[in-house]
Amino acid sequence: MPLEEFTAGLALVDHHVHGAFAETLTRQEFEEALNEGSPGPVPPGTTQLDSQVGFAVRARCAPLLDLPAHASADAYWARRAELGDLAVAARLLPAAGVDHWLVDTEHQGERLLSPAELARTGGGAAHRIVRLEALAETLAAAGTSAASYADDYRDLLRAACRDAVGVKTIAAYRTGLDLDWSRPRDADVREAARRWLAAAGPAPRLADPVLVRFGVHCAVGLGLPLQIHTGLGDRDLDLRRADPLLLLGLLRRPDVMAVPVMLLHCYPYHRGAGWLAQAFENVYCDVGLAVNQVGARAPAVVAESLELAPFAKLLYSSDAFGPPELHFLGAALWRRAAAAAARAWVAAGDWSEPDARRVIAMVGRENALRAYRL
Ligand SMILES: [Zn+2]
Repeated sequence: MPLEEFTAGLALVDHHVHGAFAETLTRQEFEEALNEGSPGPVPPGTTQLDSQVGFAVRARCAPLLDLPAHASADAYWARRAELGDLAVAARLLPAAGVDHWLVDTEHQGERLLSPAELARTGGGAAHRIVRLEALAETLAAAGTSAASYADDYRDLLRAACRDAVGVKTIAAYRTGLDLDWSRPRDADVREAARRWLAAAGPAPRLADPVLVRFGVHCAVGLGLPLQIHTGLGDRDLDLRRADPLLLLGLLRRPDVMAVPVMLLHCYPYHRGAGWLAQAFENVYCDVGLAVNQVGARAPAVVAESLELAPFAKLLYSSDAFGPPELHFLGAALWRRAAAAAARAWVAAGDWSEPDARRVIAMVGRENALRAYRL
């Protein structure tokens, strides 16, 4: 089977994804949700779709809504509004060709399809990823005390992980990754909890470095794959402090080396992440989110992700959140990019075509099935 056809037909494991919107969007909400949150207004005569991701929507999603490829932003919006959000999702989600969705449910979960609804609409099976910082915030909202914080957190984590396939930390957003990654002592956890709970208020947000580290170390003790947000995100992030190379102190710990560590997004630090995946036998990486945002440049980014990382250590993810366009595009752009990169190496005599098919199946599917024990 030709490489392109093989790649197009491969069922993917999307190992880091969020729900699709379950609500009706305004045009402004739709356009802003496509990028990493740069809100309008945009200059007259332009739209948020004047970007690589916007052009990719017009090129690749429009035909699935019965429009010609490259339909204008106005025509795309008009057709989208005519169909309705759930009908658009019913067309785009199955077209992603994903048969396992590993869903982070924490961020704005009430606006999104649940994992079960995502799987029902998109096909395949959904699995849950537990977000570590959210558990701390649940405890704070429930009025836990500083004295019982450590035990309460461990109990809640254990219960939350019973039906989960992995855990995730957004330390990059909350503290930056340049932390002392040693395991905090119980006395330090108690003192940090006392300070944080006293100041937490009605909508607690965990940004205390001791408690963030504590959550990560508790999770490592459970042995589930640990997803770590690295690289790009929205403007709440200090991107300089999201370089995965800042995780060396964590990755060198023997207990951490015993669990799979999944570096998410990584871009623009994906080459450093590739080195980590080569240097540490338990480290994996992806270029999720970036593939959507760079659109037509996805072949370059995916090719770069295939430089240093061993092929058994790369994963596919869309990191789609909100518009189902992103769930579909992540898959469509990754398929095209992976096939284009591999095709060039086959043509140059560097890879054989059977090897190319094998690598694409590993990255798109098999590595995640193995690492997450799906
Ligand atoms: Zn995400």
